[in-house]
Amino acid sequence: MFHPGSHTGAGVETGRTNVANRLSDLEIPDEVTLLLENTAGTGTTIGKQFEGIDSIVEQSEYDYSQVGVCLDTCHLLAAGYDLAAGDGLDEMIAELDASIGVENVQYLHLNDSKHPVGSEKDEHKHIGEGEIGDEGFERFINHDRLCDKPMVVETPENEKGGEWNIQEVKELRNEQ
Ligand SMILES: [Zn+2]
Repeated sequence: MFHPGSHTGAGVETGRTNVANRLSDLEIPDEVTLLLENTAGTGTTIGKQFEGIDSIVEQSEYDYSQVGVCLDTCHLLAAGYDLAAGDGLDEMIAELDASIGVENVQYLHLNDSKHPVGSEKDEHKHIGEGEIGDEGFERFINHDRLCDKPMVVETPENEKGGEWNIQEVKELRNEQ
């Protein structure tokens, strides 16, 4: 799994093409899948929008059988996908279907966001203690298009630690 990186001034389109070309240079073994992680969009980072991630895969010599996507909840919120709102989640799913395809999301990073929707700032908080909140996570992890995907907490190590956050996710999780 990797973040796509930054275009450092070359422009978003050029940045996407550069990442796609570097992907094509790799010889990914058949049994390996690389996952592109969506980003918060800080500075000149690319991979903030789904259509951008989709365009990287499209331009590379690979397809979604060997390059998948990891969605990070803090990065989603910071990038402008309003997971704290019910219609925000629905809009996100619709945008995914129009680009990457929900089926090509293979992994989920769960972490709350210290900064509000659209802030483009990447600072993780404990589950439920940031701008996404318990209700936002409850909707996200139980959504029928997302609930079967592997989820990993990627919360801060200070104060509470991973165990507390895993317990919090379990409490928000509906019986399957
Ligand atoms: Zn992450």
